[in-house]
Amino acid sequence: MHILVTGGAGFIGSHLTERLIRDGHTVTVFDDLSTGRLANLTSVADHPNFTFTEGSILDRQMVTDLVRPADVVFHLAAAVGVKLIMDEPSRSILTNVAGTENVLDAALPNKTYTFVASTSEVYGKSAKFPFQEDDDLTIGATRNLRWSYACAKTLDEFLALAHARESGLPVTVLRFFNTTGPRQTGRYGMVLPNFVKAALEGAPLMVHGSGEQSRCFGHVADVVKALGLLMNAPQAKGEVFNIGSSEEITIRALAEKVIELTGSSSDIRYVPYDAVYPEGFEDMQRRLPDVSKLERATGFRPMLTLQQIIEDIITEMQSPVCA
Ligand code: NAD
Repeated sequence: MHILVTGGAGFIGSHLTERLIRDGHTVTVFDDLSTGRLANLTSVADHPNFTFTEGSILDRQMVTDLVRPADVVFHLAAAVGVKLIMDEPSRSILTNVAGTENVLDAALPNKTYTFVASTSEVYGKSAKFPFQEDDDLTIGATRNLRWSYACAKTLDEFLALAHARESGLPVTVLRFFNTTGPRQTGRYGMVLPNFVKAALEGAPLMVHGSGEQSRCFGHVADVVKALGLLMNAPQAKGEVFNIGSSEEITIRALAEKVIELTGSSSDIRYVPYDAVYPEGFEDMQRRLPDVSKLERATGFRPMLTLQQIIEDIITEMQSPVCA
């Protein structure tokens, strides 16, 4: 199949592209290289089934031209990361709403199967655990721009599901929980690459807040395997899926584990949220997915543990290319 991956030069997109090519597909990556890098695609750059087009998903004509010949679209291009969203909120909102609108509009004429990347952030402050796909979503006040990311992605979900209902557009919404592993950059606030980098440098690991907030980290290799399975699962069409692991850990314990696995002499420092983000910043205390719907549809279960994720990031950061 011919598959278009928007945001394919990014972290998840580059791993997905490699996997799709390995599975025999032809892949076009479309990316503006704002947070993604061509270096992420080095392993497939010369493959005859791979092409790269640089441009923005805000360019309607380019999006239309690239979606037209595709059999399937993975729409991953977005402004991602709490730090980036807080630093550039209006641009992020526009990218995440208008970009998705362009992709879905372009998919309509041929009813091209489109996967839309969403996020666990849409669950917001929900206190019903674990999060299930049909749960109510509870976000914070508009004054707190952190929630604009969740809100933009929620609108993307609505738009995709509305086109599915009105026009029969085949869509699947992917609610990614914390996905991590090699190639993820810490530049936009992603916690694990930042912790591993600090530990390897002997610098303090900066934990925001008390460190009692918890997350579940999924290995990107597992996540792209799940995406491959969803592509071939007929019951995935028109549905929303939590994608991730349900292995839960507090950020304090995560920092301790990174220190242990790197053998680092770093210490842990606790930084109030107000010192890092604008006053009034709210974090989610807990983010625990129910991933049983994904398992029912595909048989998928995450195989790679948090320890393996951390070890893979350590190996990457210690490799000569990265160092
Ligand atoms: P990433 O930043 O590595 O990837 C995003 C890619 O989109 C980058 O390559 C970037 O250059 C590209 N991009 C950004 N704006 C663009 C534009 N206007 N036009 C074209 N390309 C553009 O982040 P990622 O972690 O790989 O995220 C991929 C998708 O998964 C995103 O939609 C994100 O919201 C979603 N997601 C990721 C996580 C996670 O834990 N990594 C969690 C929840 C949701």
